[in-house]
Amino acid sequence: KKRNPGQPEFVQAVQEVAEDIYDFIEDKEHYHSEQILRRIAEPDRIISFRVCWEDDNGNVRVQRGYRVQNNNAIGPYKGGIRFHPSVTESVLKFLAFEQTFKNALTGLPMGGGKGGANFNPKGKSDREVMRFCQSFMTELYRHVGADVDVPAGDIGVGGREIGYMFGQYKRITNQFTGVLTGKGLEYGGSLIRPEATGYGAVYFLLNMLKTRGEDLVGKTAVISGSGNVATHAAEKIVQSGGKVLTLSDSQGFIHDPDGITQEKIDWVKAHKTKRRGRIQDYVSEYKGATFTAGKTPWGVPCDVALPCATQNELLGDDARLLVKNGCKAVSEGANMPTDLEGVHVFKDARILYAPGKAANAGGVAVSGLEMSQNSERRSWKEAELQQLLLDIMEGIHTSCLTYGGVAGEPGYTDYVRGANIAGFKKVADAMLAYGVV
Ligand code: NDP
Repeated sequence: KKRNPGQPEFVQAVQEVAEDIYDFIEDKEHYHSEQILRRIAEPDRIISFRVCWEDDNGNVRVQRGYRVQNNNAIGPYKGGIRFHPSVTESVLKFLAFEQTFKNALTGLPMGGGKGGANFNPKGKSDREVMRFCQSFMTELYRHVGADVDVPAGDIGVGGREIGYMFGQYKRITNQFTGVLTGKGLEYGGSLIRPEATGYGAVYFLLNMLKTRGEDLVGKTAVISGSGNVATHAAEKIVQSGGKVLTLSDSQGFIHDPDGITQEKIDWVKAHKTKRRGRIQDYVSEYKGATFTAGKTPWGVPCDVALPCATQNELLGDDARLLVKNGCKAVSEGANMPTDLEGVHVFKDARILYAPGKAANAGGVAVSGLEMSQNSERRSWKEAELQQLLLDIMEGIHTSCLTYGGVAGEPGYTDYVRGANIAGFKKVADAMLAYGVV
């Protein structure tokens, strides 16, 4: 806290990891004496810059852009770009720190980074978003590159924004390289990248349920968010035989007791991306559903829960309510959606609980596969990519089992601890090999 004043999200993320690996580091004297965790928790560099652009009315607007390059011990920096008014250096530092462990868990050669700006794309015209993205990349381009740092999408950054940024990078550098992932299929994107995070979170959930001899058939799911991750998680729950009861956005949640079917999910996707609408409009479209303003959906009884919106959206009391209502498993599509108190509630209740750095790693994994395809100048087939995603999620689950065992409790896995130690170990061993750098 003293080293990072005014950065609560970053301190929270480091504290969570430190809690888990403390014993492990104490056991392993060389990690401790070489200050490996402290080194990972001090970003390699933070680039912070002005982004100046002109709105449709001719007004000059000024925003702050960032790229946090946290650690490149095992590969080029990699992680998304977020455009949201809540973006601060603390939020991006926490995301870049978490990303370092997540990327290590995928087994692919990717370091950790994250970037963004306090720009709010909501209510902006396409051309305003384009001018902002171009201005953002006009500074960022000198700090990124296919073998240096490969950004991707995140909250507020989807296919449209990636297209504008990639176009600007290509224009400035006169190079067509895999500098961003999440690109359109016409210009180097990978099949299943949009689906990968949400699908991956459900694959992870299925792997966890399997350890207790269960699956998703007939189970009810409560999901927050209605963006890329939430809608694809909902889709895979439905495909796996489950029933999705809720979705949400920053204004509230909808509850559809009849279940949010594939057709309804398609409507939400179009409404949120093409029409840039609000989730509350769902209740005018589908009778029987209700909208609750200003609340998260955790009070709706369910078998499984998938927080897929943003950080700290599921607090201690929400976690207690979920457990009380019989929730058996939680798989985090978002990054750090559960606060530390909530994490402890899930752990104490011994429910199946997968932290974002394990459960939502499918997105960055397929981004890694997009990088490989770009390097090869080829596009792999969908079936091949689907299988790789399944295999990678299973591999991450196995790593969590390997390191997440709890003494005296055969059959119980602390997935948070497992993910933290497995991710840490890979990065730490690479750092040890490099000496004091
Ligand atoms: P989107 O922008 O597509 O969707 C974000 C969703 O979360 C929207 O429904 C949005 O509501 C809601 N939301 C955003 N901020 C808040 C807030 N402060 N309070 C309540 N709701 C909020 O983003 P993604 O689906 O891509 O990302 C969601 C989460 O998943 C993030 O934590 C992200 O870091 C994580 N993630 C994403 C990956 C990806 O591949 N896209 C990969 C791994 C993790 P509204 O429309 O009202 O803003």
